[in-house]
Formats: sequence, structure tokens, C-alpha cells
Amino acid sequence: MGSIAENLESVQARIAAACARAGRAPGAVRLLAVSKTYGPEAVREAAAAGQRLFGENRVQEAAAKIPECPGNLEWHLIGHLQSNKAALAARLFEWVHSVDSAKLLETLDRHAAEAGRTLRALVQVNVSGERAKSGLAPAAVPEVLALADRLRNVQIVGLMTIPPLAEDPEAARAHFRKLRELRDAWAAATGLDLAELSMGMTHDLEVAIEEGATFVRVGTGIFGARAKPAPETEEA
Ligand SMILES: *Cc1c(COP(=O)(O)O)cnc(C)c1O
Repeated sequence: MGSIAENLESVQARIAAACARAGRAPGAVRLLAVSKTYGPEAVREAAAAGQRLFGENRVQEAAAKIPECPGNLEWHLIGHLQSNKAALAARLFEWVHSVDSAKLLETLDRHAAEAGRTLRALVQVNVSGERAKSGLAPAAVPEVLALADRLRNVQIVGLMTIPPLAEDPEAARAHFRKLRELRDAWAAATGLDLAELSMGMTHDLEVAIEEGATFVRVGTGIFGARAKPAPETEEA
């Protein structure tokens, strides 16, 4: 691994190459730098190299870190959110990629309104049906999308998924493709503009981009291996 700036450059080059191969515009995919377990100094270093979008998976960790970081960054929550932390999350984050219940969505909307903020939300879908993963089963998603009309301060803009862990990035392709197909079907059925697909991480971002990702969430590829594997979705 090089410096954070060098790593960012090589991840951006991977994104650009994948976009070119897939015939997508280079700006069609945004890089979310996943700074979980890393301190504000790592975020500052990435920000100094031009990175603006950052992802965190725990509200408490983000609450300690964000005030120590430059003020012009955009923060995205990518981990499971408990309703009792929704008020804090609504103040810290501009985006929540991990909405996994109707109740959470309504709670976030209420807190965003109280904070005078607007949030963008993605519904996390458990495409594979794996028991251990969080996210909604596809069959449960339409009920959540149906709330969109009633929300005032939260806009549902797309879907997120985490495929099962696999060595071979190609193993994720079917999951990414399925998320896109579900999105197409739900967008047509609801009239919602579900433009955003948050999928792909360090080891499988090329496959995700080929299947339509608009956000890739990259931690290790930018900041290096995490000392201790952080829970991928669970809020401590
Ligand atoms: C940690 C995490 C990532 C980043 O994973 P890397 O393999 O380090 O790129 C992406 N998405 C979620 C939800 C995460 O928790």
C-alpha cells in the first residue's frame, strides 16, 4: 500500500477503467471512502487529496470523529442503525445507505424534520437471503418504498446491498445484477427515481460498476487493512 493519496489515485483509476470497460461516463460512479476504525487524521489526509465523500458504519464512532474533520465533507452512514440513535444520525449524516425498516425510515424523517435537515436514504436489500446479513428481504421492500409519499425530510433515492463474503469478486456479480433488476422493477412500479445503487467494495468494485453501481464503498483500498475487522453492518 502507498500513502492515502496514492491509494485514492489508484482506486480512482480502477473506477475509471471499469467505467470505460462498461461504457459508462467516468462521473457516473462516486467513491465513498469508508473511514471506519480510522481516526480524523486519516480522513484529513484523504480530504487533502481531494476526497469529499466518507462512509462510517457506527453512529457513536462518527459522532466522535466528524467534529474533528474538515467541515466541507459529506458523510454517509453505511451500517445498521438502531432507532434510538436515529436522532444523532439525522444530525451527523447527509445520506443513510442502510435503511432496513419502515419504522426506521419514519423515525429518521421525524428527526430530520426536527433538525431542519434533509436526508437521502437508500434501502438496504438482502438480495442473497443470507441469514447473517442485515437488510430487508426483497419481498419486504415495496412496503417501505410505499412510505415515500408521506416522508417530508427524507428522500428515498436508491438501494444498497452487501453480497456474501467471497474470495472471487465474480461471485458477487449475480447479487449486484439482482439489485439492479429489483431497482428497475420497483422504480417502474412506484414511479420513484431510484437512481442510486450502492454496491461494490475494495475487492469487487469493478464487478459492481459493470452491473450499474453509482456508489462504491471502499475502505481497505484507501486506508489499508483494518487492525481488527469491524462488524460490517452491526451497530455496537
Ligand atoms: C467496511 C465496509 C465497507 C468497506 O469495505 P472494504 O472491503 O474495506 O473496502 C463497505 N461497505 C460496508 C457496509 C462496510 O461496512
